[in-house]
Amino acid sequence: MREINSEQYLKRIANEKDKLPESEIDTALARLSTPFREVTYGAEGKEKVNVENFSFEFSYSSIHDSSQKEEIAENLRRLQIDQKVAYANPENWRKLDMLIFEVKGKHIDLLDKLPPDTQIFFCPTSAKFHGSVSRPPVRIYILGDITTPRSLVTLLHEAGHVFDDANLEKLGREDMMDTQLNAYRAEKLRTERSASAFAFKAIKSVVPEGQLRNDARTFLKSYALESYQASIKADVAHDAMMSHHLRSEYDYYMVSPREDEERARFDDFEKWRKTNAFKKWKETPDYANLKEYSDEYIAWSRWVEETGHDYYKDIYPEAGESI
Ligand SMILES: [Zn+2]
Repeated sequence: MREINSEQYLKRIANEKDKLPESEIDTALARLSTPFREVTYGAEGKEKVNVENFSFEFSYSSIHDSSQKEEIAENLRRLQIDQKVAYANPENWRKLDMLIFEVKGKHIDLLDKLPPDTQIFFCPTSAKFHGSVSRPPVRIYILGDITTPRSLVTLLHEAGHVFDDANLEKLGREDMMDTQLNAYRAEKLRTERSASAFAFKAIKSVVPEGQLRNDARTFLKSYALESYQASIKADVAHDAMMSHHLRSEYDYYMVSPREDEERARFDDFEKWRKTNAFKKWKETPDYANLKEYSDEYIAWSRWVEETGHDYYKDIYPEAGESI
């Protein structure tokens, strides 16, 4: 299996043009954010949704386990969630115990396809939508009601990340890119696209052709990915400018790709240092007394690696969610 030429990959993405008008994206998002039907969530329950040839069944339960509560709280801290909001309270979360799609009399069990120790949590009372995944063991966190198409699509996207990981593992690789400047950005985009491609494939097999399927595609392709690509594109352009104009000839030939990557990441760190997320991070006892820049950067890099924190979201809040 050959690695991907990251520069060509980014160029190819930049040249893709099938961008929908903003208004069309907004209408699709509004439809996707409306529940298929209202569900009143108790401590536990089982629900069935049936709309226009699309149906699924799910069951849920409250979070009893104190270690599960702690996991949710930890995930929210990682996402830099304000502790005062309702969804920061694990009492408002539920565990998804079962989710089965029904297609032409056949049953497709989502949890059956994920590793056995997978756990999925969601917060039905949240009006804000978001999805994240950590692994191993696989933990998927969905902010939002699972009966909204948007949460359901986000859940499939997160499951897509798990499948992408499994594929890399099978290939014995940590990523698919070469070692050029911006390779890690290309890889980040590749994994997002791969997760969304998985989600869309799953949707195609359970949702009949029609508006819901089209909306899901718009969400995955034009909203969640597009905004992400735009911010990465801006950074790639900035790096290109840096490498052509500001670096000495000597640097240009002597710097290894890894060092280049390090520069790009430090550049991201400088941007991140201006965000509120940085202020919060700096309030944590572990990081409060670090020497400015140098020690901070080392600790931050390690923290990003360990937690998978998506700092692009902090640097570009207007870029929408990276799901
Ligand atoms: Zn993602």
